[in-house]
Amino acid sequence: MNDALTRAWRASRPACSGGTVASYIPALAGADPSALGVAAVDAEGRVYEVGDARRRFTIQSISKVLSLAYVMTELGEEAVFSRVGKEPTGDPFNSIIRLETSAGRKPFNPLINAGAIVVSSLMPGDCPADKGERFRSYVGGLVGRPVVERDEEVYLSEKETAARNRSIAWFLKELGLLEGGVEDALDVYFRQCAVSMDAVDLARVGAILAMDGIDPVRGSRAMAARTARVCKSLMVTCGMYDGSGEFAVDVGVPAKSGVGGGIMAAVRDRLGLGVYGPALDERGNSAGGLAALRALSDELDLRVL
Ligand code: GLN
Repeated sequence: MNDALTRAWRASRPACSGGTVASYIPALAGADPSALGVAAVDAEGRVYEVGDARRRFTIQSISKVLSLAYVMTELGEEAVFSRVGKEPTGDPFNSIIRLETSAGRKPFNPLINAGAIVVSSLMPGDCPADKGERFRSYVGGLVGRPVVERDEEVYLSEKETAARNRSIAWFLKELGLLEGGVEDALDVYFRQCAVSMDAVDLARVGAILAMDGIDPVRGSRAMAARTARVCKSLMVTCGMYDGSGEFAVDVGVPAKSGVGGGIMAAVRDRLGLGVYGPALDERGNSAGGLAALRALSDELDLRVL
């Protein structure tokens, strides 16, 4: 396993130079574009890692899977899916267009910004700070820490500049889909996006999803099986934004990416995978991370699709 990881990592490093670090959130622009880390957790809970697998980064859109799992756990499936669909869009993650043009007038799925902001608005708590803290405790519970950290600089940087997400949230308010105020929902969303984790953490959560909710590191249930399955299904169809179809063909496993450079993947009954490479392709997916997952999928025959 270590050899496979190292080979995939080495073969994928050149792909990093084909990507660009996200800069629309100003604080992300300083990331090192040549960084690349790969981690795996297997069905026995063994951890494997190579390169920058312990470098922390903000999880950004990967948080959408975690907030979905969290809100499903706290409030049930119906609370989410009465307001958000389960269908892919084929549009970029921050697209607003279908909110107006689709017949259902609700976000297509929880893994695009529109759907994720609705889910954020549902989180339990007294105020955005409290909601954000409870969410971080939930995620901490999945990765074996009391709480996961938030990157304050990235959080504030996005909060100050998010004109597109504000437009989406105001539109959602008009459609009657937000619980509470617009700025509060956005604040919770920015807080969850700025949670910082490393590739090993992502592999741990990926392994919980892979095992249908059992944490192989601790040998106990961390999430309801149904929750894990819903998350994985949506990851297959919507997890890699408008690159989800190509990813399903090339790699063939459920995965979720974020513009911080992370990708989390779950290989049924076998592995959780986490990769980090902040140089992104034109769709906002980690260029080096994609290359590493393609290489690993080929080498270890990971395709489940
Ligand atoms: N916080 C980011 C945004 O809303 C997350 C996007 C992403 O990772 N694709 O733009």
